[in-house]
Amino acid sequence: MTSGYYLVSKISGLPYYKYKGDALRLVNQIARTVDEIIVGIKDQPYLQSKVTTFKDSDGNIIERAIDFVGKPCRNRVYIRRDNVIGQDEYVTSIHAKEYTLQRALKDTHLQSVADGLPRTLFWSPVKFFTNHLSENIETGEKVLTQVKQTNLLKPQKEIHTFTEFPHIIKGKIEKTAKRILKFNVDILSGHKVSSKNVVELGTKLPQNDTFLGIRALDINDAKTAFTEKFIAERGLKNKRIKINPEYLPTDDKEELAKALFDPNEGSVNFVKGHKFTSKSEVCTTSRHETEHGWQFYLHARNTKGGTTEWEEKMYNLFKDLPNSLKKEAQNYTDSIRSYVTIAENRAQYRQNFIEKCANEKGAKARVLYDYERAEIQKEFPHIPQELL
Ligand SMILES: [Zn+2]
Repeated sequence: MTSGYYLVSKISGLPYYKYKGDALRLVNQIARTVDEIIVGIKDQPYLQSKVTTFKDSDGNIIERAIDFVGKPCRNRVYIRRDNVIGQDEYVTSIHAKEYTLQRALKDTHLQSVADGLPRTLFWSPVKFFTNHLSENIETGEKVLTQVKQTNLLKPQKEIHTFTEFPHIIKGKIEKTAKRILKFNVDILSGHKVSSKNVVELGTKLPQNDTFLGIRALDINDAKTAFTEKFIAERGLKNKRIKINPEYLPTDDKEELAKALFDPNEGSVNFVKGHKFTSKSEVCTTSRHETEHGWQFYLHARNTKGGTTEWEEKMYNLFKDLPNSLKKEAQNYTDSIRSYVTIAENRAQYRQNFIEKCANEKGAKARVLYDYERAEIQKEFPHIPQELL
């Protein structure tokens, strides 16, 4: 500890319900235990700095709040995933998101949380990263691969970095250099990777991976990213389609779905309770729902405004369809009008024309996504493929 500071208190393993401190929380997941270190500054009795760590029932960190005098508040939230690569590698992947909050906004933040607004509303993202620590079950060889997203407030120049650190063999660190792949991603163009300012140290930038700008993302963040990419590719960018990655279902039927397209709002909604286990699964689902967006958009123009607010808006903005799209649109309109829901009849639901088309697009996108992953996976073989 730097001189000038002194330890005020230290608690560890305190049951959460006994914690009376005021550390800010960005996730509302209930913790099991809390660790906290408070330090004071000599001669300034009212100033204290503290680090508070919240852990779950398995002892894994779920959040850390770093509150230093004179500095912005800083919080990190963590998600842990356990994976296996092939037969012989066990990988622990810990995803972290770091945010800061200007001290002057502390009360505003607390008020907004009390009002039920998203907890990160007034916070700025600093970096998102995942540490993948793999261990070979046979040889004990350990490899740390880190994947990082920075420059998060510049949508034209988000920076993605993949780093594989020297391996640890029999407790000794190999005398090799880090391998680094670093590139810029333009979020607004549908997550395209820029060919400028690429760093390749002991690695090569994949050349045939149209999903490269999404490979670094955590599963949950990939929901929005995939959908933005597919919206851009489907020519739906100015069609006011919203994306809700944490949609709260309104009935039992929605609760069973992974995601849905809502033609009332014009939104792709990922159902909050559904846990996606791989990015391939997110990819298929996202492409499927985006296709529904396309279908309802054509239907809106085909029927001079459809039946919902968003459909009416689409017609007012884009008017009648060109002849080349009329037949396709009519097929969607027919299917929308005779739609059989999953609750009515599961088999017939699958036979809805709009579902068949959306399933086809979703399946195709997944095949491409899985196929194109091979390049980056060859560069960084210790990252589990479900997360790439
Ligand atoms: Zn569907």
